[in-house]
Amino acid sequence: MIGIFEKLSDKARAAQHWAFLVALREDQQQVGLNHLLAGIQCANPAMFTGVDLVQLGFSPLDVSNVEKVQQEMQKLYMRAQISCAAEKPGEARAFSFPFASASKLVLEAASDGANYLGARTIGTPHLLLGIFKADSEMRAKLERANLDEPRILSFCRDYKEGDEGESMSERIDEMRGRRYRSGIGYDLHRLAEGRKLIVGGIELPFDKGSVGHSDGDVLAHALCDALLGAAGLGDIGTHFPDSDPKWKGANSLRFLEHARKLLDEKHFTIEHVDAVVILEKPKLGPHFPKMREALAGALGVSVEHIHLKAKTNEGVDAVGHGEAIAAHVVATLSQK
Ligand code: MG
Repeated sequence: MIGIFEKLSDKARAAQHWAFLVALREDQQQVGLNHLLAGIQCANPAMFTGVDLVQLGFSPLDVSNVEKVQQEMQKLYMRAQISCAAEKPGEARAFSFPFASASKLVLEAASDGANYLGARTIGTPHLLLGIFKADSEMRAKLERANLDEPRILSFCRDYKEGDEGESMSERIDEMRGRRYRSGIGYDLHRLAEGRKLIVGGIELPFDKGSVGHSDGDVLAHALCDALLGAAGLGDIGTHFPDSDPKWKGANSLRFLEHARKLLDEKHFTIEHVDAVVILEKPKLGPHFPKMREALAGALGVSVEHIHLKAKTNEGVDAVGHGEAIAAHVVATLSQK
């Protein structure tokens, strides 16, 4: 849920900070309308050109020496925290400088104004409009100082998105812009004599090979399932049924190439693949560079995207007895 504060432009957020400073300097415990107005003037002095600030009830804030102002603000802020601690022990850490209820109404009116005028962010002109709309006393003051409604509305109309920087909500949206999804894949094939042992698209010299309708490449099959799972596209069986003679003895890298096409159609990018292959013999490690190349080639990604690990099953169960080979794969995709 995005609140009003998250919609403030960078400049409007600065106005809020200057308003805190003014309130702190006046030893006030809350940000009032005068403080807010002074903060807006400090963040966007152009809107106040030719305006008698004294008539508006404040003198311009000197923030030309940023370092000095920051130091002052920190001291004042700490003092406010300490007095909060003295009054309400235990709440000092949670202390945040509060807005007076009238200032909260201003923020709501500013947000409504920005919405009404079709602005995604709340800028300093909207804050000024908020003050004008939310408080009759301030409205009269502003009118006397030649800041009437048509003039304030003209500032709002001239406000261009991005002029005052992004809002936090836009940054949040940008971060959320890419959705990440992970998928898991698992496969196991029995090992038998007279079959080729193909793992990760590479034929390994061994006296046994995996039994399967296709070439029996467990790593490619588990990887394919992980990719399809992450994309919400079913599993390998739905796309390449082993009842279809077309896939008899097929090179499993073709499955990966096809999965990649399906991912492309849905604008998925392959971010990362992590795999564990479990078999007793032979040693897989020396073949990993070639496997990564073959898998990355089929998927159209660089080898850095493919991470492979090998395990034995410690002599336990079918895999440990050398009767089977298994693989687990996790694939991470992103989608704009
Ligand atoms: Mg399989």
